Amino acid sequence: MIVEMQTGVDVQQVDGVVQRAKSLGFQVQLNLGTNKVVVAILGSNTGQVPTDTFAVLPGVESVTRIMKPYKLASREFKGEDSVVNVGSVQIGGERVVVMAGPCAVETEEQITEVAKAIKELGAAVLRGGAYKPRTSPFSFQGLEEVGLELLAKARKAFGIPVITEVVDPHDVELVTKSADILQVGARNMQNFALLTEVGKSKRPVLLKRGFSSTITEWLTAADYLLAEGNSQVILCERGIRTFEDSVRFSLDISSIPVVKRFSHLPLIVDPSHAAGHYSLVPAIARAAVAAGADGILIEVHPNPKEALVDGLQSLTISDFSRLMAELKAIAKSMGRYI
Ligand code: PEP
Ligand code: MN
Repeated sequence: MIVEMQTGVDVQQVDGVVQRAKSLGFQVQLNLGTNKVVVAILGSNTGQVPTDTFAVLPGVESVTRIMKPYKLASREFKGEDSVVNVGSVQIGGERVVVMAGPCAVETEEQITEVAKAIKELGAAVLRGGAYKPRTSPFSFQGLEEVGLELLAKARKAFGIPVITEVVDPHDVELVTKSADILQVGARNMQNFALLTEVGKSKRPVLLKRGFSSTITEWLTAADYLLAEGNSQVILCERGIRTFEDSVRFSLDISSIPVVKRFSHLPLIVDPSHAAGHYSLVPAIARAAVAAGADGILIEVHPNPKEALVDGLQSLTISDFSRLMAELKAIAKSMGRYI
């Protein structure tokens, strides 16, 4: 249930709503907007409580039920776009934020070379996996703690924020020491123990869409993060499984306007894991920016032929340089910049 307060409401009146909700055993989340305070009343049986329970309270303007399964990620709870702040980088604002780097951190030379190059070319965030959720247990699983240390070194050397994946709830604290943004991968989109722990960390988090998940399931998973009081949530479309087998996954371009319509959360697109092949990545990336994505998460490797993971879909530094020039032009035509 969403309780919209009147403009100019005072603290006691908001507190009155909060106390009434708590006395009925519900949880609450506040959206302190610039000109409106909204109180979300959350619980499994809010449907059994009449809206008048709150409508009669002083300072309440309106009470509505959210019929969708996701509440905190919805536009009903927060009408204006959310912006996630990562140091001086804003995700969800006018800038189209490019996050680039290798699938996995492999060596110090590799991550240093990529970090330097992508920063010079205008990327805002360095990506690199230290923990890799691989389909096969025999594939390279990442450098783990050593990988985190190398990321932290690159972050310091080049003054660029870092995004890396966390796969285990027990590693969240450790990963927050080296990462500015925690990535929850497609395979873990509904790992609720992980989502809860990442939510508690209050660290900016990028939630990838599960490759068999609907947009509703994805936004409801985002509610797990938001429910812990972590408002720094970024969504990432990375392709879904369809009958089409000429690409690794089918990038659902329509999820961009759909998410923008129903949610206030910033949304970025990963063309690399969708395409599965370097030759297809630039076109998908350009389409994503044209369709209104707030950023791009892209795999770049100094020597894709030698990459331990996802070499086939990784761009070389010169391919990435060409793509950046194209993306800058598209962003500009959309009234944005990179
Ligand atoms: C990744 O970004 O390296 C990754 C494993 O992506 P996804 O979870 O989308 O497969
Ligand atoms: Mn990858």
